Amino acid sequence: CGIVGYIGFRESQPILIEGLKKLEYRGYDSAGIAVHTARGLEVTKAVGRLVNLENRLTGDPLCGTIGIGHTRWATHGKPSDANSHPHTDNSLKFSVVHNGIIENYLELKEELMLAGHRFLSETDTEVISHLIAVEYEGDIVKAVQKAVRKMRGAFALGVLTEHEPDRLVAVRYASPLIIGVGEGEKFIASDIPAILEYTRDIYILEDGEMAVLTRDGVELLTVEGDPVAKEVFRVNWDL
Ligand code: GLU
Repeated sequence: CGIVGYIGFRESQPILIEGLKKLEYRGYDSAGIAVHTARGLEVTKAVGRLVNLENRLTGDPLCGTIGIGHTRWATHGKPSDANSHPHTDNSLKFSVVHNGIIENYLELKEELMLAGHRFLSETDTEVISHLIAVEYEGDIVKAVQKAVRKMRGAFALGVLTEHEPDRLVAVRYASPLIIGVGEGEKFIASDIPAILEYTRDIYILEDGEMAVLTRDGVELLTVEGDPVAKEVFRVNWDL
């Protein structure tokens, strides 16, 4: 299972796909990407090997300079198109990739269903996109913080919302996640090889930390909202 995300000036789809290929060693059963396109926040995903996703995108590429991608290693719900990430909420305005497990997802899902939410997958992950949508009041960072407080388990997350097409939010709690810092472009990834082609300057997130990426900067903070000061780590090895 692996996560990749990009915000910058290049087309995101090839960067996401190439990044996911570099994370192949982590194993996967399906893959998908979400991109801010001219039509809104669009998702394409496919069960099976990465080439299935690539084939699906060949005829209908997702064009845009911000996106998130995922290779899944199923823990909750069989490998299928519907269970592949990214997952969205019912408004289709929020998109999430997740590595890890949400332990209390069943009780969260029941609460959400009672409130009228419809679920399209069997995953634990889908509750995250719904929770974020519920908490959203105009600031995706605050919405993610509030949603995370309701979740127990292990997670690395990449989050996009159509409401804020110039920000990418990442959170780490007991699953690995790094942030890549480039000139006019920023990255998230489960591991360094996924982004090494583009930058050697990275932040390594610790548990309970999150990052807000824009094209020009990275804000690091805790899930409680306190600022985090961290040195950039310079990668001095090659693949
Ligand atoms: N628990 C999630 C799922 O089964 C994420 C699995 C992963 O880390 O790839 O969809």
